Amino acid sequence: MQTNLAPEFKTGKDAAAVEAILRKCVHCGFCNATCPTYQLRGDELDGPRGRIYQMKQFFEGEAANAEMLKHLDRCLTCRACETTCPSGVNYSHLLEIGRDAIERELPRPAWDRLRRLLIVRFINSGPLFALSIRIGQLFAPLLPAAMRAAVPARQTPVTRQAGRHSRKMLMLAGCVQPALAPNTNNLAINLLDRCGIETIEIAQNLCCGAAATHTSHPELGLRQIKRLIDAWWPHIEAGAEAIVVTATGCGVSVRDYARLLADDPEYADKAAKVSELYRDLVEVMEAELADVAQAAPSKRVAVHTPCTMQHGLGINGRVENLLQKQGYTICRVRDAHLCCGSAGTYSMLQPELSGQLRLNKQKALTGDTPDVIVTANIGCQLHLAQGSPVPVKHWIELI
Ligand code: SF4
Ligand code: SF4
Repeated sequence: MQTNLAPEFKTGKDAAAVEAILRKCVHCGFCNATCPTYQLRGDELDGPRGRIYQMKQFFEGEAANAEMLKHLDRCLTCRACETTCPSGVNYSHLLEIGRDAIERELPRPAWDRLRRLLIVRFINSGPLFALSIRIGQLFAPLLPAAMRAAVPARQTPVTRQAGRHSRKMLMLAGCVQPALAPNTNNLAINLLDRCGIETIEIAQNLCCGAAATHTSHPELGLRQIKRLIDAWWPHIEAGAEAIVVTATGCGVSVRDYARLLADDPEYADKAAKVSELYRDLVEVMEAELADVAQAAPSKRVAVHTPCTMQHGLGINGRVENLLQKQGYTICRVRDAHLCCGSAGTYSMLQPELSGQLRLNKQKALTGDTPDVIVTANIGCQLHLAQGSPVPVKHWIELI
């Protein structure tokens, strides 16, 4: 598409990226066919082509307005449109720049900024978050049904049996997963131990920065990323061979550190190294599991591949393969490319759309009568578990 950036954007640091991305879009609209929000709303402005067009108008000089931001806010950042696009349009990068620039020109109302900050601070609050979850679990029977469904069942923590090994890998603890699903990392650590790998997990609830970055606080997100890099760096220098992440939502963020900090003289090299060492758990297990005895399960499993895994990381079908090799029967799942509606903090900020997407996804996942649903991201896991007739787990719980 021909573009003509307004003078105030022409010299900005993102001008070249914006221009290149906009020029790639030929406005064909193929991406609308796989966009969850376009499918739900049937409104061009709530599809990728329409959102790209609105950002183009803004970068070409149209004043920012609340309507633009409303349609951009409805985007899940699921990136299904990127997978579909025949022109290779980097939609998510344009959205990141566009939303930030529009918000700077037209700041959100104070209440919206406050609720976004509170959500991020709560998610990142560590012990306070864990205590709130525990209180919610204790009093769940007294809560109204709708609220009760939102409280995740308590996992009895599996004991870690981690020994000392010469091979070492770092593992991201994450900010919410230790309180909500501690067994994901516990089981992963035990399995790595059986494979002769020692796992180093930094004890504090250090966040990967994704929640803040995607909830209008990119500066806070960058500070969190730098803190995490600082905590990992001594172990990287000491020879950790990989950084394993068990939640794909965090993983896609860690893999992006190299790009996010490319212009930072102090952190660019370290961030590039961190991104290079990043591995999703499934990639590590594929490589290591050959030596581990296989179970003999007979369960039917429906796999929900998170958007961050299929459209962000591009490692689709890998969990299915691994589980199949372990003896599980994989169920068919219709419309597997569509988002479940969790999308980081989206479920809190856009509850209606998110709820509709969850219902659709639950129907798709249970259509082939599975015994269990598995996924690879804590956000999707908890979101899909709400009101699900079939248990929802992290796939590592089946290995
Ligand atoms: S599919 Fe790609 S080129 Fe076509 S409208 Fe969508 S983003 Fe633009
Ligand atoms: S990222 Fe997802 S919700 Fe957003 S425009 Fe693309 S397909 Fe639609």
